[in-house]
Amino acid sequence: MTCPNENRLIRLLGGELPDNDRVEIVAHLQNCEACRSRHSELQHTWELLGQLEAVPPLRDLAPAVLAAAREETERSSRLYWARLVAAVALAIGAGSAIGLLQQRTSPLAAVHADVTADDVVQVIGIDSLETDSTVLSGLLLSEQAPTTAGEEGEL
Ligand SMILES: [Zn+2]
Repeated sequence: MTCPNENRLIRLLGGELPDNDRVEIVAHLQNCEACRSRHSELQHTWELLGQLEAVPPLRDLAPAVLAAAREETERSSRLYWARLVAAVALAIGAGSAIGLLQQRTSPLAAVHADVTADDVVQVIGIDSLETDSTVLSGLLLSEQAPTTAGEEGEL
């Protein structure tokens, strides 16, 4: 017979040849050094490919990938809840602070509703003078200067 092409040698390695073809080629390999050498090379490649098949197919990786994704999602979820709790704690803290500020400023706000802005500044000044904070008094005394000028302008 003539030398079989590589396709037939590969099909021989894969066991895909009909019995009569296989017997014929195997007999040829015993007598043809070139085909035996070529068959040996292809067999080596075939075995290497066989080792690659030992690697789990992609579809078998899917559960592991999904599990990893789920774990990541759960981790992110835990992080999300931790952040949410922290945010709520901060919001409660800020709300308390705002509530305190509102309690402190609400009498002033009531005054503000009935009087002009200049009067409010004077109320703040009087209120701060009642405290013994020299820094706050100095600050508000400096603010009273333009207020006085404004009153003079109105008068
Ligand atoms: Zn040959």
